[in-house]
Amino acid sequence: MKILVVNAGSSSLKFQLLDMENEQVIAKGNCDRIGIDGHVSAKTGDGREYNADCSFPTHTEAFEKLVEVITTGETKVIDSMAEISAVGHRIVQGADIFDKSCLVTDEIIDQIDALAELAPVHNHPHALALRACKKVIPADCPQVVVFDTAFHQTMPSKAFMFGLPYDCYEKYHVRKYGFHGTSHRFVSMELAKVMGKKPEDLKIVSCHLGNGSSITAVDGGKSVDTSMGFTPLDGVVMGTRSGSVDPSAVTYVAKKLGLSPDEMSDYLNKKSGLLGVSGVGSDNREVQAAADAGNERAKLVSDMLCYEIKKYIGSYAAAMNGMDAVLFTGGIGENSWEVRKGVCENMEFFGIKIDNEINEASSTRGKLTKISAPDSKVEVWVVPTNEELLIARDTLALVTAK
Ligand code: ADP
Repeated sequence: MKILVVNAGSSSLKFQLLDMENEQVIAKGNCDRIGIDGHVSAKTGDGREYNADCSFPTHTEAFEKLVEVITTGETKVIDSMAEISAVGHRIVQGADIFDKSCLVTDEIIDQIDALAELAPVHNHPHALALRACKKVIPADCPQVVVFDTAFHQTMPSKAFMFGLPYDCYEKYHVRKYGFHGTSHRFVSMELAKVMGKKPEDLKIVSCHLGNGSSITAVDGGKSVDTSMGFTPLDGVVMGTRSGSVDPSAVTYVAKKLGLSPDEMSDYLNKKSGLLGVSGVGSDNREVQAAADAGNERAKLVSDMLCYEIKKYIGSYAAAMNGMDAVLFTGGIGENSWEVRKGVCENMEFFGIKIDNEINEASSTRGKLTKISAPDSKVEVWVVPTNEELLIARDTLALVTAK
């Protein structure tokens, strides 16, 4: 069975076609610059590539191009879309309406669109892609939606509520939702497998560290708390996002700089974080290189990142009354031995001790590696994430259960 996985943004449509017999990627690519001009790039599992400028006024033309590149020309991998069993879509915000993946209906597309107020950058483009997909793929090909927030719907109310007037929750649905749920679910299940344990028997702190970063407490296979909040701005310092800041500092700065709410949101989401503090850039590699070369502000923000992650690990060990394993994933988590070292050193009190040699040698993305020392009470692992694969697995499970 072949499953097409789609991750749609406001101007892009990333895709992967997977063969579920062996869970291998047959082709992947991106239809980019939708609504601007248009560009497509695609690569097949056997190394064939295609790049071209196109015209993508809307997601529909981008979807038509996606179909064209996988069924014809240089990157042809299937004869027709009839070979595809289903399409799985990544959806950022499912709020408290969706606690698991589900088959798409028109009503569900409308519900996803209606949640755009909570996720303005993401949900409306997701709905556009769902409608475009429906127009372009065969009528009998089912679509499935997989939500970044769904895994965190198991959080207890004491973890997801903010100390704001209750009305704010009831009227405006302001609460912690958490994100990266597909990744946290995937890596925590992979870790249980490799540890030879059932997910129900493990307490894991999962650190997904990339351009956006979040830490999740996974107790018995369920998310019980997570660092991102109402939006993906909360938690630890990120590439261009501030992470948690005293809300009074936000209102103070907005007043000082005369910023509107939208401008203040840009300030926190796009001008802060590694970029804002270091002044060097948002990419961890650039910041690390600058810190190594003696740049004080780059060193400062690197130290802040490690310190904040460390505090989440400690607080989640307290929340779960224990911790069997800590895992690192995402671009920074899988590659940066420096960040993992900075997080894990001086954590003996929590039973964490890493093997520095193994940790330093583990700096290539995609390798599952145990980096804790043999006498570490808590196991520490690098676990490669694969959100597309989990979306494909969920999609397959739903369409075969039909
Ligand atoms: P996203 O969150 O957008 O999915 P990724 O998970 O790919 O992004 O993570 C991107 C981050 O990973 C960037 O900050 C980048 O600098 C960092 N990164 C990638 N490779 C390395 C590396 N070899 N060493 C340190 N950091 C790295």
